[in-house]
Amino acid sequence: MTVLVVGAGPTGLTLGLDLARRGVPVRVIDKAPAYFSGSRGKGLQDRSLEVLADLGVRDEMLAEGQHSRSRLYVNREFSREVDATALIIPQWKVEEALRDKLSVHGVKVELDTELLALDGTTSQGRIDADYIVGCDGGRSTVRKLLGVPFEGVSADGEHVMLLGDVEVSGLDSSIAHMWIGQGFYALTPFRTVPQWQVQIVTGDGSRLEPSLEVFQRLFDEMVGQPGVTLSNATWLSTYRVNVRMVRKFRVGNVFLAGDAAHVHPPAGGLGMNTGIQDAYNLGWKLAAVINGEAGDKLLDTYELERLPIAEWTLDTSSERLQLITEAVQAGTGGIETGRKPEHAQLGLGYPDSPLSRNLVRWDGPAAGFRAPWQESLRHQDFTLLTFDDVRVLVRPDGHIGVVGGPSDDLTVATYLTDTL
Ligand SMILES: Cc1cc2nc3c(=O)[nH]c(=O)nc-3n(C[C@H](O)[C@H](O)[C@H](O)COP(=O)(O)OP(=O)(O)OC[C@H]3O[C@@H](n4cnc5c(N)ncnc54)[C@H](O)[C@@H]3O)c2cc1C
Repeated sequence: MTVLVVGAGPTGLTLGLDLARRGVPVRVIDKAPAYFSGSRGKGLQDRSLEVLADLGVRDEMLAEGQHSRSRLYVNREFSREVDATALIIPQWKVEEALRDKLSVHGVKVELDTELLALDGTTSQGRIDADYIVGCDGGRSTVRKLLGVPFEGVSADGEHVMLLGDVEVSGLDSSIAHMWIGQGFYALTPFRTVPQWQVQIVTGDGSRLEPSLEVFQRLFDEMVGQPGVTLSNATWLSTYRVNVRMVRKFRVGNVFLAGDAAHVHPPAGGLGMNTGIQDAYNLGWKLAAVINGEAGDKLLDTYELERLPIAEWTLDTSSERLQLITEAVQAGTGGIETGRKPEHAQLGLGYPDSPLSRNLVRWDGPAAGFRAPWQESLRHQDFTLLTFDDVRVLVRPDGHIGVVGGPSDDLTVATYLTDTL
C-alpha cells in the first residue's frame, strides 16, 4: 500500500516523515521545480516543537531559531519591548530540516511533479497509490478535484500585506522591530541567515507591487529612521487574508491537510503549526490501518478531531487580527493583543472524539487532551502509564486515548478495534 503525499510544504513533509519512519511506503511530490526559499510562516509554537522532537528534528530547529524580542515603536517613538512567544525561524529552514530527515528514511521529494487527477496522474506520469493526501496549500488541486467547497470569505483590500526577505543594515539585528502609526512596518531578523522578513501594511489601502525599491521607500516614509538600508531581496510576495475551511477532510481514500483544508489570518502564527499538527494526527492512523492494526473507521476520526481545531484556528486568528487592526488604527500599538497563551497549542485536544474514553474519574488530564508527560512517552508507539490506581493509555501522537482503572482492558488492540 502506498500513500501519495501531494505538496512538500511543512504539512506534506511532516506527514511523509511520520509515515516513512513507520515503514509505510510513501511518495512526496511537489509541482514546484525548486525548493521554496521564502521565510513565510516564521514561528514554531511549543506544540509543534514537541511534534518535531518526536520526528527527530527539534535540535535543528533550536539551532536555527530563536525566541527573539520585538522593539515596538508607536508613531515613530520607541514604546516598549515585547516577547516573541514562538520560536522564530524561516519556514524554509523548517522544511529543509524535515526534508533532510525524510531523506534519511530513503524518501526524496519529487520536484516538478504536479498532481493532475485523483487516479494519481501527474505531470511526470501516473503514480499508483492507495491513499492520496492533499497537502497542496490554499489553492489545493486535490480539494478542487474532489469538489469540496472551501467555505468562508476573502478579505478586501484593507488587509493586503507586502512581504519579503531582505538584508538590512543600520538596525540592531538582535531584536525584531515593529513600527505602528499610519499602518504597520515590521523587520524581523533570523538567527542564522542574513535575510530579515519584511511585513508591511500601508494602512491607506494603496495597491503596491512588492519590490526592494518599494520596501525602502515605504520604510523612509512610514518609519523615517535615517541610515537604514535594505538590500538583496531574495523573496517578494503579497499576502491577502482569506478565512476559509473545508467541512470534509476525507472523501474515500483522499484526505486534505494543512492550508489545503484551512486558511486564516497570520495573527497568532498558527498556519504552519496547524498543518504540522494535522499531519501528525493523520500519520499514525494511516500507518495503523495500512499495517492492519486498525480498521478503516480509524481514519474517520481524522476529520472528527481536526475539523474543530480548524474552526478554533479560524476564529481565534480572525479575532486577533481584528484587535490588532483596531489597536493600529487607534495608534495605541497594542500589537500584543494579537497573541494569546492558547496559541502555543498545548491545550488543544479532542475531548469529543470517539477515540477519547474516560472510564474513571481522576484529577489528571481528560482523554483527548495532550499528555503532559511528553518526555516519558514512547511516541512512535502507544504508551501505558500507571498512576496509583489509574492507568492512562497515550496515543502515538501524545494525546490521551483512555483513562482507566486497574481492571479495564487498556490493550492497544482493544482500543483500536472496540473504540470505534
Ligand atoms: C506572512 C505570513 C506569515 C505567516 N506566519 C506564520 C506563522 O508565524 N506561523 C505559522 O504557523 N504559519 C504562518 N504562516 C502560514 C504558513 O506559511 C502556511 O500555513 C504554511 O505554509 C502551510 O503549509 P502547507 O504545507 O499546508 O502548504 P504550503 O506551504 O502552501 O505547501 C503546499 C505545497 O504544495 C505544492 N502544490 C500545490 N499544488 C500542487 C499539485 N497539484 N501537485 C503537486 N504539488 C502541489 C506547492 O508547490 C507547495 O509547495 C504565515 C504565512 C504568511 C504568508
